[in-house]
Amino acid sequence: MAKKIAKKSAPKKAAKKAAKKPVKPVVKKSIKKAAPARAAVKKYVYAFGAGKAEGDRTMKDTLGGKGAGLAEMTNAGLPVPPGFTISTQACNRWYDEGRKLPKAIEDEMMAHVRRLEKIAGAEFGSTTNPLLVSVRSGAKFSMPGMMDTILNLGLNDAAVEGLTARTSNGRFAYDSYRRFIQMYGNVVLEIPKDKFEHEFEAVKHAHGATVDTDLGEGGLQETVKRYMEMVKRETGKAFPQDPLSQLKGARDAVFRSWNNDRAIKYRQMYEIPDHIGTAVNVQKMVFGNTGDRSATGVGFTRNPATGENKFFGEFLVNAQGEDVVAGIRTPRPITELADVMPAAYKQLRAFTSRLEKHYKDIQDFEFTIEEDKLFMLQTRNGKRTGYAAVVIATDFVAEKLMKPSEAILLVEPAALSQLLAPVFNPSDWKKLPLATKGLPASPGAASGQAVFTSEDAVAWTEQGKKVLLVRKETAPDDIHGMEVAQGILTATGGMTSHAAVVGRQMGRPSVVGAGALQIEEKAKTVKVNGQTIREGDWMSFDGLTGEVKVGQVATSPSEILQVLAGELKPEASDIYQRFSRLLGWADKVRTLGIRANADQPDQSELAYAFGARGIGLCRTEHMFFGEGRIEKVQRMILADNEKDRRAALAELLPLQRGDFYGVLKAMHGEPVTIRTIDPPLHEFLPKREDLMVEIARLEATRGDAAELASKKTLLHRVEQLHEFNPMLGHRGVRLGITYPEITEMQARAIFEAACQLAKEGIKSSPEVMIPLVGLVKELKDQKAIVDRVAAEVMKEQGVKISYLCGTMIEVPRGALTADEIAVEAQFFSFGTNDLTQMTFGFSRDDIGKFLGSYLERKIFDRDPFQSIDTVGVGQLVAMAVEKGRKTRPNIKLGICGEHGGDPSSIHFFHKVGLNYVSCSPYRVPVARLAAAHAALSVKVGD
Ligand code: PEP
Ligand code: MG
Repeated sequence: MAKKIAKKSAPKKAAKKAAKKPVKPVVKKSIKKAAPARAAVKKYVYAFGAGKAEGDRTMKDTLGGKGAGLAEMTNAGLPVPPGFTISTQACNRWYDEGRKLPKAIEDEMMAHVRRLEKIAGAEFGSTTNPLLVSVRSGAKFSMPGMMDTILNLGLNDAAVEGLTARTSNGRFAYDSYRRFIQMYGNVVLEIPKDKFEHEFEAVKHAHGATVDTDLGEGGLQETVKRYMEMVKRETGKAFPQDPLSQLKGARDAVFRSWNNDRAIKYRQMYEIPDHIGTAVNVQKMVFGNTGDRSATGVGFTRNPATGENKFFGEFLVNAQGEDVVAGIRTPRPITELADVMPAAYKQLRAFTSRLEKHYKDIQDFEFTIEEDKLFMLQTRNGKRTGYAAVVIATDFVAEKLMKPSEAILLVEPAALSQLLAPVFNPSDWKKLPLATKGLPASPGAASGQAVFTSEDAVAWTEQGKKVLLVRKETAPDDIHGMEVAQGILTATGGMTSHAAVVGRQMGRPSVVGAGALQIEEKAKTVKVNGQTIREGDWMSFDGLTGEVKVGQVATSPSEILQVLAGELKPEASDIYQRFSRLLGWADKVRTLGIRANADQPDQSELAYAFGARGIGLCRTEHMFFGEGRIEKVQRMILADNEKDRRAALAELLPLQRGDFYGVLKAMHGEPVTIRTIDPPLHEFLPKREDLMVEIARLEATRGDAAELASKKTLLHRVEQLHEFNPMLGHRGVRLGITYPEITEMQARAIFEAACQLAKEGIKSSPEVMIPLVGLVKELKDQKAIVDRVAAEVMKEQGVKISYLCGTMIEVPRGALTADEIAVEAQFFSFGTNDLTQMTFGFSRDDIGKFLGSYLERKIFDRDPFQSIDTVGVGQLVAMAVEKGRKTRPNIKLGICGEHGGDPSSIHFFHKVGLNYVSCSPYRVPVARLAAAHAALSVKVGD
């Protein structure tokens, strides 16, 4: 049943939707908004600083997210170190011109350097007050840790003396110089990191230092000297001393990093377009590592894991920003900053709540305190878990910060799937002793076999195993392991470390900073609490509490599923109430109907509970696999005359009637689209090869003669039914045409079930759907049977049932002649799985062999079986909609292919004016919200 294997759509990624989301600029009076500069000559560099910026928050396309945020904060009067942003268009020019910038842009940048020197009151290379800058990437969509950053740029042999003079702190100056050479050497000059480590370790050893901070000014000077020699050896050139050439080198390295492997992989995962490029932000350095009156930190205005309205973040005294996010030192909770530096803390609270109100979204910010003075380095809308997104959106409405129609836009539809993720059964969880506790970085229950590298995570998962990725800390190139693991567990790092940020974003349960774990990555063991866990041993953790245990614990459905199953009272679940409130708001906004693809009564009940109002596709053949049924189906197929076939069908009739009764009842009168048999008949018979082996075995062992004879008959029929290309073979409507008695039986089962319900006083609305129609005459033939049987059954039962008869549009010819087909069809349901297959000529089952290459070579942006190809397949849909409505203005139009649960496809179906989408029951909440987003974005002209 290859054809029937549902192609589950992976949760759709955030960036795509973000791209679709209408972002209405909302400007509070309290925050001034500068008019964006509109120069006649094309502008590539935008200044910010001293209370004024040339850009603003609406210019993310040009300035990237970081650059737009810096501009907006500057205009808002917040203390932002001055600088300038080199636009994303400059990045694209750089690539277009063969990896260099035209002179005019170089000149423009130079003018900004001079201006920055003036505002900062410092000069590049000065021996008294040198200008030092950071150079950071910043694309339109945040890509944490994927691209390169350089700090302390501008330091050279002269400027380091200047920095010593200005700060009266030689140790600090040389430590900054050392860090700069190391970063620049690695990122720009492409010298491997371990070469620097090697030199640094040698100096530490010689000075008897165990940790970096043990090394004094002399030791750091020696490190700088050794670094310089090593750079010369490695590159054949001296380390660049000219700050301007350093700046150009760093800028170009950031442009180059747009296309490093990590960044490319990240863009693929989050569907960020490749052509948009990155901006580069050059900003005056402020130092969080000048001593005990300095600090650096990151934070969120609310908890990004749980959504709780609590100031959240962490900081390190005497540190640079990279130390907080790199996960090397475990930082302190931000509330402790109130004791250490109360004035700066108070200011930070005030600024960040102002930013949250201004942006009407949770803010993710970075700050540095230099000698008690606070600087804001970044603000952006914070990434959050699906759970937190729902809590925050519902809280924002309760706090009257926004209207429900604005709040629903704060939740990515695909993120709702996280709320349906499994949890541990509390009593099973309690049975295991606690091994340790880490930071609860991303909620969800995870249980799996421990693996210690991302490569192993991928390999084990491919073998069908469930793994937990256990690492000291994760790095951006662990992304493939994180993607497949059940959960991520790290020993170091804080709530904003790489593992935490990325785990949350992927909706992957994560516990980080579990310091008690002694991980030996080479030996592939972890020791904790006196136990040694080896590769392959089971571990479990709860991403909501941070508790880690050794052993396997079964997971159970989320609270929401428990409420829907009647196992938990709605009042007992805060998240269920918020979830249903949010979806209630979405339902008020959306115009698309939402149905589910379901074949069984229990699936239909779940779909109804999730908010589906109708079944868009009931694949009747799925019912043929129920207990004791397949033999009857096989008898029907084996019959070589109509009489025998009818006898076998008569046995199937009561079984199908029972199924339809259940499904129709579960939908409480909402429409139920039941499709007549679709797959080729050989799919219901054993495989030819298996039968041949069986027959050979029976012959060799002189087995039962009757069994042997029956296997031989079966083999004969299997060979008769064999097709070279079953997908284009004897299936769909073609079966109904050759065996009209099958359609008859199915129609009878549907109408008898509806009549039975009617007699019980239960309303039902069946819609009989004929698959794979390409010619109106095919439909006419089958519809005549359906109408005849309906009339017969109603007469027999003395009951009147209102029903519809329509077709799937899934063959290109069906779409092209939709005007003719609509003469017969009362509805169309687009079968976008087959329509995609037949439009591209790609087999649904075999595309896996080349899909990877197509994605890699950018021939596809996305798998067209997951997300509708709007240009080609979509054109056929749009054409059929128009033609269908021309013939029959009130024709009902829906879609039941896998695309019905994909947010960006839903956006398209809304735009072309379908009446409903139908998807798997678990994706119904996603579809409800996506349909609301589509309605809102179309309204604002997206
Ligand atoms: C389709 O083709 O889109 C469809 C829904 O039918 P099936 O997947 O059963 O072929
Ligand atoms: Mg189909």
